[in-house]
Amino acid sequence: MTRRKLAAGNWKMNGLRTALAEIEALRDAFPDPGCDVLICPPATLLAQSALAAAGSSIRLGGQDCHVAASGAHTGDISAAMLSDSGATHVILGHSERRADHGESSALVARKTEAAWAAGLTAIICVGETEAERDAGRTLDIVTTQVIESVPDGAIALTTVVAYEPVWAIGTGRTPTNAEIEEVHTAIRGALASRFSTDVAEGIRILYGGSVKPGNAAEIFALRDVDGGLVGGASLKASDFAGIIRAAE
Ligand code: PEP
Repeated sequence: MTRRKLAAGNWKMNGLRTALAEIEALRDAFPDPGCDVLICPPATLLAQSALAAAGSSIRLGGQDCHVAASGAHTGDISAAMLSDSGATHVILGHSERRADHGESSALVARKTEAAWAAGLTAIICVGETEAERDAGRTLDIVTTQVIESVPDGAIALTTVVAYEPVWAIGTGRTPTNAEIEEVHTAIRGALASRFSTDVAEGIRILYGGSVKPGNAAEIFALRDVDGGLVGGASLKASDFAGIIRAAE
């Protein structure tokens, strides 16, 4: 099965209105990209980002959503609100949310169902800490997170998994190519046993953690790597352009 690669940028808590120029620059540089391109700006910029990307194939995503569609949840944002602001995707279970907000895989699964109900594609993040890797528990940790975070009913159209080793995020360190392949193969195997081989073969599995223009092509060429979820190197169009090109 051919899976179209996805270059996804996670701006995290970065970006004021001046950052919209980066989306405009990507829109102009990639009128017809040979991969899917997604930017997940902070929620404050989502609607304006949709205007900046209008007429292009750049897609926009949120970085989290609440499990409820609306209600008394001060400070939270629902999947329907993200969709209404122009998002087609939402990142869920990022390790920074798992660590900073105590999000469990069970909660990530409920958020994924909320995202689907609003018509969004969920990018479900999993990954081991350095201590877990050192203890030889990487495959067990990651596949358990996949099994528990991806709810029943997952299909390729609505589900992306991002493997992001916690120790590689923002550190400039990456696993070896063999280590990345080993984990991606295990994730696809876990999806196959949880759903079916057909479903597992269709779901894109992104690698995230210190992806840069200089290492993206090598990583994206690895078996079972279907693109990247990129933090720091997605903030500037000039950097992210190199990553998009590596995914094309
Ligand atoms: C991320 O936080 O999703 C990420 C991969 O960050 P970075 O690319 O900066 O390591």
